[in-house]
Amino acid sequence: MTILRRFIAGAVCPVCGRMDTVRRCQEDTQIWWECVSCATRREEPLLEDDEAKPVVIALRPSAS
Ligand SMILES: [Zn+2]
Repeated sequence: MTILRRFIAGAVCPVCGRMDTVRRCQEDTQIWWECVSCATRREEPLLEDDEAKPVVIALRPSAS
């Protein structure tokens, strides 16, 4: 079975605190993330999931 792995840009590992070491893995319906730095693996969703990451756009009404 193929495991899809993709690094999450800008994600910080909550265990070792390093950036860009976390990658999102998926095999069939199972999704988890793992850190290549400290080898942590969690099946809980990471806060900064790349597909759920909101695009930060400043939506400010013009103060005219
Ligand atoms: Zn880590």
